Amino acid sequence: MSLMRRVLLAGSTNTWLRERATRAPFVRRSVRRFMPGEGIDDAIRAAEGLRPQGITTILTALGENLTTSGEAESVADHYVEVFETVSSSGLDAQISVKPTQLGLDLDPALCERHLDRLLACADTHGSFLWIDMESSPYVDRTLALYRRARARSNRVGLALQAYLFRTANDLESLLPLGPAIRIVKGAYLEPPEVAYPRKRDVDENFYRLCLRLMSGDAQNAGALLHIATHDQALIRRLRDHAVAHQVPRSGFEFAMLYGIAVAEQKRLVADGLPVRVLVSYGEGWFPWYMRRLAERPANVWFVLKNAFG
Ligand SMILES: Cc1cc2nc3c(=O)[nH]c(=O)nc-3n(C[C@H](O)[C@H](O)[C@H](O)COP(=O)(O)OP(=O)(O)OC[C@H]3O[C@@H](n4cnc5c(N)ncnc54)[C@H](O)[C@@H]3O)c2cc1C
Repeated sequence: MSLMRRVLLAGSTNTWLRERATRAPFVRRSVRRFMPGEGIDDAIRAAEGLRPQGITTILTALGENLTTSGEAESVADHYVEVFETVSSSGLDAQISVKPTQLGLDLDPALCERHLDRLLACADTHGSFLWIDMESSPYVDRTLALYRRARARSNRVGLALQAYLFRTANDLESLLPLGPAIRIVKGAYLEPPEVAYPRKRDVDENFYRLCLRLMSGDAQNAGALLHIATHDQALIRRLRDHAVAHQVPRSGFEFAMLYGIAVAEQKRLVADGLPVRVLVSYGEGWFPWYMRRLAERPANVWFVLKNAFG
């Protein structure tokens, strides 16, 4: 892992930095590259803008590691409203949530209750709820949340991170459930005891995990794969594999972040492949934004250009 990536990821959890950076106009201008705005209306407008291009969406309100049960309740209330708004707009927009947004740090039972409420909404509106994966200390609890949720509904999916050594085993244990799984590389600062330190090992594991989800027995069990990456080499390899092995179109989608690899999103849609874009919004964007900078240190130059340009 590069020094720059390490520094940016360490900065993502620094309160002093967050308080200053989120007030700086040049930082706020730079965030707009990845986030259409802080309000749900901004996110819905962005989703409506993507719809004519044949791109569907996932909406997520930023914020994590909440400290009071009232905050977790507000997040759940907010997503209930989003399910209703999306349903009346006719958009194909799913929702993605972080367990710590729903109070996992405070009380797992409270988090489960909020998750149940959101699952009931996803069922009522014929929508879909994704559970994000956060840093490694949360993995066991998040897997338990997912298993429980999956037993209640098939309108729920889970993100798994290719940088973790454990993920291949976790995936294997979930396959009998016919799960919806979003494979990502992983966005947090993890020690070498739990995660592949070298990018090429992460990339290869990402490829293997996706192949496993596209395999005949996983697909027959009802698995859905979200290939959540902007990595063109991986996208090409996986799409070639899907074509060569006649993986059904209903078995996988490409998923990317708003504002990133836009040309690739359009290319895939033009080739008839399903693409879903995750649109983030909300005031709690600082740690999320620092993770986006860490993914591509060239983005730091973009921030500096906004500072001096
Ligand atoms: C839909 C979706 C959901 C996600 N959910 C989670 C989650 O639940 N948990 C989690 O840990 N992580 C999540 N992530 C983030 C993920 O773990 C990676 O950090 C992120 O996707 C960047 O890795 P990459 O796969 O694009 O590959 P990389 O190898 O990092 O990047 C490949 C190429 O993509 C482009 N690119 C990548 N990132 C950026 C960027 N920020 N700005 C500009 N260009 C960029 C660059 O051209 C780069 O060379 C999610 C990502 C997506 C797309």
